Amino acid sequence: GDPDVHATNSARLFERAGNVIPGGVNSPVRAFGSVGGTPRFIREASGYTLTDVDGNDYVDLVSSWGPMILGHAHPAVVEAVREAALGGLSFGAPTEGEVALAEEIVARVAPVEKVRLVNSGTEATMSAVRLARGFTGRTKIIKFSGCYHGHVDALLADAGSGLATFGLPTSPGVTGAQAEDTIVVRYNDLDAVAAAFAANPGAIACVITEAAAGNMGAVAPLPGFNEGLRRLTREHGALLIMDEVMTGFRVSASGWYGIDNVAGDLYTFGKVMSGGLPAAAFGGRADIMGHLAPDGPVYQAGTLSGNPVAVAAGLASLRAADAEVYAKLGRNATALGDLMTQALTAEGVEHRVQYAGTLVSVFFTENTVTNYDEAKAAQTWRFPAFFHALLSRGVYPPPSAFEAWFVSAALDDRAFSIIADAMPHAAKAAAAA
Ligand code: PMP
Repeated sequence: GDPDVHATNSARLFERAGNVIPGGVNSPVRAFGSVGGTPRFIREASGYTLTDVDGNDYVDLVSSWGPMILGHAHPAVVEAVREAALGGLSFGAPTEGEVALAEEIVARVAPVEKVRLVNSGTEATMSAVRLARGFTGRTKIIKFSGCYHGHVDALLADAGSGLATFGLPTSPGVTGAQAEDTIVVRYNDLDAVAAAFAANPGAIACVITEAAAGNMGAVAPLPGFNEGLRRLTREHGALLIMDEVMTGFRVSASGWYGIDNVAGDLYTFGKVMSGGLPAAAFGGRADIMGHLAPDGPVYQAGTLSGNPVAVAAGLASLRAADAEVYAKLGRNATALGDLMTQALTAEGVEHRVQYAGTLVSVFFTENTVTNYDEAKAAQTWRFPAFFHALLSRGVYPPPSAFEAWFVSAALDDRAFSIIADAMPHAAKAAAAA
């Protein structure tokens, strides 16, 4: 049937939005461009449930693209936000909460000795790259195809996430000089990294990588890959930037670092550490961070950086994320992946469910996906039918074949029975696509 049959209010809002907001959305993937149909406008959310403006409930498997590991409107987080808001929304002066959040991050991720708070993951990676250039006095950077680090000019080349969804190699508006300074190599290919260093002696400021890739779907680093990046960057006097915006404080209490223990020089964080409000961070070795203003010459600043309400939300979320929460995220990721595998196997649909820690995704291919070319070679045309069969049965997956699925610790037996009921229909739809 028509998957949008219950979306009349969403459709009306989407039309209204299109008159005043480009594409009707404030971040491209939200527009359902690659899956078709009407994006659901969300009225409210609680626990694992999203409720749209037509009154439909969905089991949320996006979790605001990562932040909501505790589920929505978690009482401890809401209370912390309420309390902070009552004390004033922004001061443009330092606060104790910022210090506590920085201490929490430093305590969890050993290679991070100092950290600065910013407002988005994009700002974090932009600042980390600038700092790497300022520290090394070099201009070129290496990134991996299929990795997304936010919409930083220099990092949009061959990026995952929305650029993968919409098939964009890069973006108009990025200058030739910026593109020239960015060397894009294949993910999980150390030989390619070594070749890039050899071809650009003394010129590479940093390698930036997702600690485990989640923006071409979930593609974990192959054994030895991150270690290899550590070795090559050290040999060539370049910095290693571990982008943990997606993995940080989600895949373990210490992020991906807690899984493979490879120490980057700089780290970027966002999502979970924000509790769902706009906050992010970059940090790392104290000697490198010492090059930032006001201690050093590399400039970086922000009117709302360290915002007291955002900091309160992030701190409350991290403090509530105890060992049981991480154990539950692990169980829930596996349970979701198992349901996908069972249903797709029963329908004979070629597929791979892949994990990067507790990030999950499904690729419609019989081969393990280790890089962006392999992700793009999968039968992505099966995804829209798969997606809409789930959506119309009360399950909200990411609206793109190239995005990871984000579980929360709020998912319970009832949530999984809704997913289990929907999944066989989705598998049938994928098979018939
Ligand atoms: N880095 C990674 C690994 C991300 O996944 C994202 C966002 N999905 C970003 C950076 C950018 O973060 P933001 O959207 O907050 O700018």
